[in-house]
Amino acid sequence: MNTGLWRRIGLSAAFVIAVGAVSTALYNYAFTQALEQTAQRGRADLALAADRLRAELQRYRELGVYLADHPLVQAPVSPDAIRQLFVRSADKTTALDVVLLDTKGNVVANAIGDPPQGWGDAPFFLRAMDGALGSYHAVSPRFGRRAFYYAAPVFGLTREVQGVVVVVVDIERTETDWRGGLPVVFFTDDLGVVFVSNREELLYLQRGVGLTSANADYRTAPLRPFLSYQVEQRNKLELWRLDAGRYVPAQALHLVQDLPVIGMRAEALVDVAPSAKLASLQAAVLAAVCLAFGAMLFLATERRRTLAVANLLLEKRVAERTAELERAQADLVQAGKLSALGKMSAGLSHELNQPLMAVQNFAENAALYLDRDRVPEARANLERISDMARRMGRIIKNLRAFARQESEPVGRVDLTGVIASALELSEARMAQEGVALVWSDRDRPVQVRGGEVRLQQVVLNLISNALDAMSSQTFRCLSISIAREPEKVILSVADTGPGITAPEKIFDPFYSTKEVGASEGMGLGLSISYGLVQSFGGMIRGENAPEGGALFTVELKPWQEDSTP
Ligand code: ADP
Repeated sequence: MNTGLWRRIGLSAAFVIAVGAVSTALYNYAFTQALEQTAQRGRADLALAADRLRAELQRYRELGVYLADHPLVQAPVSPDAIRQLFVRSADKTTALDVVLLDTKGNVVANAIGDPPQGWGDAPFFLRAMDGALGSYHAVSPRFGRRAFYYAAPVFGLTREVQGVVVVVVDIERTETDWRGGLPVVFFTDDLGVVFVSNREELLYLQRGVGLTSANADYRTAPLRPFLSYQVEQRNKLELWRLDAGRYVPAQALHLVQDLPVIGMRAEALVDVAPSAKLASLQAAVLAAVCLAFGAMLFLATERRRTLAVANLLLEKRVAERTAELERAQADLVQAGKLSALGKMSAGLSHELNQPLMAVQNFAENAALYLDRDRVPEARANLERISDMARRMGRIIKNLRAFARQESEPVGRVDLTGVIASALELSEARMAQEGVALVWSDRDRPVQVRGGEVRLQQVVLNLISNALDAMSSQTFRCLSISIAREPEKVILSVADTGPGITAPEKIFDPFYSTKEVGASEGMGLGLSISYGLVQSFGGMIRGENAPEGGALFTVELKPWQEDSTP
């Protein structure tokens, strides 16, 4: 019982673990699939953001080139005229400032605010002086804003550089358009510093290079170390786990796009929570279905098990009841036997009484003969006494044998002998009631399978029923015969009574047409006989004979030496 319980608990646990494993596998698969889609969308978003920034900067770069070619700049006769041109340009393009420098780096004219200081050795200026387009980005000390610088050389008639036009671009203005948008996008420069982003908290974070060296370039910018994050690779995708405030997802896909034209690297952090949620949902549905199915299966097996246990209990009870029934039946057989004896008792007492009276007479006679010295006559009387005693002894022996409980199951029995002793017990009653007996084959033993006492009980019951049936008839004849066939031995008992009233009922227990009373019918004789004959592997039948009267046949199995008892 206990081991069964543990086994079921173990099986259930194994099932739950298996469901867990399958759900986890599904979760992983679904999550990866969802990530692929998220990555596709994220890449498109990132490309869009990068294109916008590039296009924006492109405009200012072209403005620088355009102004460097402007006739007013080419021939810088009136700084005031140039300033006005620059102011107009800055107003139209929302540039922070437009500046014209001479070849020494001194400011010739600028559009807005105080002229910038110390650009003479700035790298973008030197690059423009080399005839190329210089670019730079930094926090502008004059405006206190992050700015891009584009420096375009102003060529003279002989293609020599005669000045430089610098356009200062307000990158924060550009940024405001997409602040807070999705996904998180940031642009890092060659120093690993986040210079542009749609999340303010990411600005000035620096990755990789030591902070101090970069500080010079950014001047007033408060550089901070980059966020700490853990990287997980999933199908060539990079997942970041980080804690960077509520505006940056805690778990995100990290996407990268290089922008060599503006010297930056665009990066995006795409929230994967929706993908995770979708995958969890799918896994949960699968787990729920599996668990529901498992629960149904469990309930079904539990019911089967309960049924099996109940069945076992039932079988045990049936076995107990069967044993009880067998005991009751044995008791009944004994009761039937005693009842049969009761029926016989009147005849038996006569049977015993008669020889006793005779013994008394013969004894008295013997005494008289002895008084007269007639020894031979006395002897003859004594011999008669001896005969009588033997006869009474036989009767009593039969009775004792009949009354005893038989313990042997089945064995070899001489049917002829059984009939003879049953008749011996009935002899007195038959003589008293004037019943003729026809019994063929009385000298030939016939061996059958059965129990001697029980078979005698059956035969005695048949004889006694026949005598009962004929009691109201004038002609009374009991016929007994044995027929032998290869597979069976058939005993027939026929009478000249009125026949059976209801042949289909006679083997039912308590069916009797006789008056209820001490020596009369209990309705058990035939039902007991039926059971007994069946236990020998035989059959008993009762019918009305065509010539009148009842005919009972008992089929028995012939005894064979090799047959098992
Ligand atoms: P009981 O003899 O106590 O009535 P049995 O079971 O021996 O019980 O017999 C049942 C009934 O079968 C009898 O009451 C009787 O009606 C019928 N029966 C049995 N033997 C004969 C027979 N030889 N002739 C007619 N009826 C019989």
